[in-house]
This record gives sequence, structure tokens and C-alpha cells, in this order.
Amino acid sequence: MKSLIQFTDIGLYCPQANIYIDPWRPVKNALITHAHSDHARSGHQYYLSTKASIPILKYRLGSFINIQGLEYNEKTQINGVTISFHPAGHIIGSAQIRLEYKGEIWVVSGDYKLENDGISTPFEPVKCHSFVTESTFGLPAFKWKEQQVIFDEINQWWRTNQSKGVVSIIAAYSLGKAQRLLQNLDMSIGKVFAHGAIENTHEVLKKQGLSLHETLKVDNKKTNDFFAGSMVIAPPAAISSTWSKKFGTYEEAHVSGWMAVRGMKKRRNLDQGFVLSDHADWDGLNTAIRATGAENIYVTHGYTEIFAKWLREQGYNAHVVKTEFGDDLADINETP
Ligand SMILES: [Zn+2]
Ligand SMILES: [Zn+2]
Repeated sequence: MKSLIQFTDIGLYCPQANIYIDPWRPVKNALITHAHSDHARSGHQYYLSTKASIPILKYRLGSFINIQGLEYNEKTQINGVTISFHPAGHIIGSAQIRLEYKGEIWVVSGDYKLENDGISTPFEPVKCHSFVTESTFGLPAFKWKEQQVIFDEINQWWRTNQSKGVVSIIAAYSLGKAQRLLQNLDMSIGKVFAHGAIENTHEVLKKQGLSLHETLKVDNKKTNDFFAGSMVIAPPAAISSTWSKKFGTYEEAHVSGWMAVRGMKKRRNLDQGFVLSDHADWDGLNTAIRATGAENIYVTHGYTEIFAKWLREQGYNAHVVKTEFGDDLADINETP
């Protein structure tokens, strides 16, 4: 019997339904786990995603795309294959995709995290026989602190900078991290500004009903005094750029899981690094995999070899799958 999911040069493919999952070349039919650019590419003839992903997919790929949406847990049938989307807790609208055919069940995780970020629909484990998992942070050294600890650190950093009249510029991935950060800033401290790329993303998300703290537009005509002591949320590419200079005296920080890597802060010329990720850490990956009850595990993204070897030692039938998904270094390399 041929496998329900095949790993091809253009992406994960379900031949029975003639549909790809997050393909990286243009195809006829694509299922999309979430709207990050390494998963949601342009040029497909037909897209199927969660309903919550549609506004941001249209914003990023063009309003002309041919797309339909399902609610989480809602089922559809394509040539006998039952397809459904289940919360992945990664960013707004993000999903794991479940495919079932003649009793065989596969789940493709996309990107995921287990901690409830208060914005994404929280991760739900889905039982299956075969699980395709990401492993962006698939090393035991990656162990996240509770998010509140990190937000307290960020707010404290802001207060300290403010007391010196210094602007706090913090880099956050515009879709996902920026909203998570904004919602957890202590808005009583001072003014919060957002880069245009982030403001535009927030407009789209607010229109679909997400409530977000208000940010101020960065007005180029204002003087340094106007910005003194404020917080500025910017995409990673705006860091250490001419754009930063308009704020006068400032400190720059990044909020990303990659800040856990020794030397990363220095390499990026940052004053501060805050370790907060929208991906599962080592324990999170292991917990999620156990909860699926799957025997067969296919590992994509990041530390695939090491993580698959570890899983085989735990008794799983684990394989590395070559994909063109980013290692989510996009998280710190994103350009607006
Ligand atoms: Zn992602
Ligand atoms: Zn990814």
C-alpha cells in the first residue's frame, strides 16, 4: 500500500487527495498550516487553511488568491481522505493538519508550541499513527522559562532605560511575536510605538477581531524628545539601521528563541536578548510527540538528525525529512 503522505521535492504530498501541505513550489492544491512565509508561499492555484489564517494570507500573498477556510476540528473530504485542522498554538490561525484514509491517520504539525500565549488558539494534541514534527529547537539545551518571567524582564529593561531617558527598541517577528510582546507590555510605563510593517499586520488582525493594545505611529518629523523613554517594536531588519537613528539615544534588544544561543546577542550587536519563542522547547517537543501516541515520527526544521536519533533511542520509528521550511531563523532575519 502506498503511503498516505509522501515526501517529494516540492513538499509533503497526499496522492490520494492530490494535495500538498505547505509546498515550496507552486502546485494545484495546497493545505497551509500557517501564514509564515516559509510555509505559505505564493503561486498555488487553490489554498485551504484555517478560517483565522485567511485575512493574513490574503494580506501577504494577495487578495486575489483562491482560498477556502475551515474552523478548527471541522472536517472536509477530498477523494475519501478526511482532512481537518487542529490548533498548533504557534501564531494566530496556526494549525496541525490531520489526514485520515481507511483508518490510517497522519498529522503534520507545522510549527507549534505548547505554552498558551493568550493570542493563538492553544495547542491540542491529536492522536495519530504517523506524526510529522518540527524540531527547530530540538536540543536538550533549549529549555524555555515561563513567558511571564520574560515579560517581567522586558518591562524592567524598559523602566530602566526610561529612567535614563533612553528609548527601548525591541525586535520581534511581525506576525506572532510582535503581538505577543505588545499584549504583555506594561502600558502604564510609557508610550509604545510600532514600525509600519508591524502596524500594517496589526490592522489586518484587528479587523478580524483580535484585540490588541494601541501603538503610536513613528512620525519622522518628531524630535528626539518626543520619543525619549518610549518603547518601539520593530521587525528584526530595522535593528541597527538608519531607521533606529531617529530615536536619539536608544538600546536595542531582540526577543527570540535564538537568543538562547551563546554569542547570538553579541553577533547581532544587541544590548539585550530575551529568550521567548513561538516554537516548542526540548521538553515541549517530547511532550507533544508522546501525546500523539504515534509510532512513526518524521522530523523537519532545525536539529533534525540529533532529534531523530534521540527519538529512535526512545523506541520510535523516527526519520529525518528534508524540507525547505526555514529553521525559523526568519524569526531574527525577517525583513519587513
Ligand atoms: Zn512559523
Ligand atoms: Zn516553520
